[in-house]
Amino acid sequence: MSSGLISVAYVVASILFILSLGGLAHQESARRGNWYGVAGIVIALAATMAGFETADLTWVVAAMVIGAAIGLPIANKVEMTQMPQLVALLHSFVGLAAVLVGFASYIDPLVIMVGAEHTIKLVEIFVGIFIGAVTFTGSLVACGKLDGRIDSKALTLPGRHWMNLAAVIVCVLLGAAFLGSDSMALSIAILALMAVIAAVLGVHLIMAIGGADMPVVVSMLNSYSGWAAAAIGFMLGNDLLIVTGALVGSSGAILSYIMCRAMNRSFISVILGGFGQTSSSSATADEDQTVQEISVEELAEELRNADSVIIVPGYGMAVAQAQNGISEITKLLRERGINVRFGIHPVAGRLPGHMNVLLAEAHVPYDIVLEMDEINDDFPKTDVVLVIGANDTVNPAAAEDPNSPIAGMPVLEVWKARQVVILKRGMATGYSGVENPLFFRENSHMLFGDAKDSVDRLLGALR
Ligand code: NDP
Repeated sequence: MSSGLISVAYVVASILFILSLGGLAHQESARRGNWYGVAGIVIALAATMAGFETADLTWVVAAMVIGAAIGLPIANKVEMTQMPQLVALLHSFVGLAAVLVGFASYIDPLVIMVGAEHTIKLVEIFVGIFIGAVTFTGSLVACGKLDGRIDSKALTLPGRHWMNLAAVIVCVLLGAAFLGSDSMALSIAILALMAVIAAVLGVHLIMAIGGADMPVVVSMLNSYSGWAAAAIGFMLGNDLLIVTGALVGSSGAILSYIMCRAMNRSFISVILGGFGQTSSSSATADEDQTVQEISVEELAEELRNADSVIIVPGYGMAVAQAQNGISEITKLLRERGINVRFGIHPVAGRLPGHMNVLLAEAHVPYDIVLEMDEINDDFPKTDVVLVIGANDTVNPAAAEDPNSPIAGMPVLEVWKARQVVILKRGMATGYSGVENPLFFRENSHMLFGDAKDSVDRLLGALR
């Protein structure tokens, strides 16, 4: 294929990737967005392969077949609750690819450059391997923490920020030595030493971050993996990789920022780590505080008599897989003329959009699924709020107790409704480990049990 045609194919693929990101921003267009992405990647792969002049395509096809044979069953099997660790694992591959491409680009005898061009190439290789190694090991640790294979507590070694700084300074000095080196063997040794230091830095940076911040870190590593891909693009002189890497890098950074804002955490405090290791709370449950329980039949009666209902799902709904039953209940109540809507907190669940995906899968109409900002003012006018497996995202302490560890985090103000019913298994805290005074409020009732079981029984009672 001529280089002109390849460039056109790359431009088309870049446009498709941008359309894909735009599509993924809304539920209604997410499916279309996915297809734009698939079409973009197919065009990109085809154009790249068509551009090979010397390579034996058999190897490429064999690698793709093996990759697909491993990837397809994993993607089919993975639960929505395991998505963050899968994403982290996939980022580690991008990091490893950047490291390998970096070494290969340096060794590649076909590339002969001189002067400034040569220096720029060396800098690209050095930076690409550095970002790649940090992303590789950091993503593996994040995956291990999310999967429970590595202790999710933050590892806070004394002087850890100084250690990180020292590692970066040593890498910069190695970079200077690399640029000045005339010997191929010495240069490769320098690259290898820097890659080891960067790999250790990646482990240490992510070990210092507590489990509760891990989803933000995954999105941050997503951003790093984008920059690693862009670095590969520079090394290989591939414009499409540069554009795609920049898209992933910046969208990952924006997502991390949105998540931090939704949790009232500063981006820097997440990156510097050390949080999430304490699960203490100022708002501990009082001995004489009691909770009021409600039976399934009583709740069914309350719902029948309500004019407006808001359902607030959280991580527990995903664990219990209660979304289908909830969808049925919604349908039933709406058929009876009751105004039912959903209130979604930006970080409900374990990754952004977690609840929206589950509700869409269960065929809950998009137009009744509202964001926190769209629905928060409506709670005082609502008869019944059903909180299903959500906890931190509806905690009044965030709004009312300045000493709470989650003080200032924007939350769904469910306690302002006439009645709140919370479906959960026991009195356990949420992800942040902070007690929730909502459970002891006068207008709160608890329906204990697995959310799927409770929802199915409620559906039976309503029918
Ligand atoms: P939480 O983690 O606060 O609470 C989930 C609740 O679900 C628990 O209290 C648990 O109580 C209950 N639960 C668990 N399993 C079941 C089950 N089978 N049936 C019924 N209930 C169940 O969830 P939220 O969604 O409210 O909040 C998300 C948390 O995750 C926040 O702290 C947020 O900051 C954090 N987070 C989210 C990110 C994101 O992007 N979404 C990113 C980073 C952090 P019990 O055990 O008693 O049943």
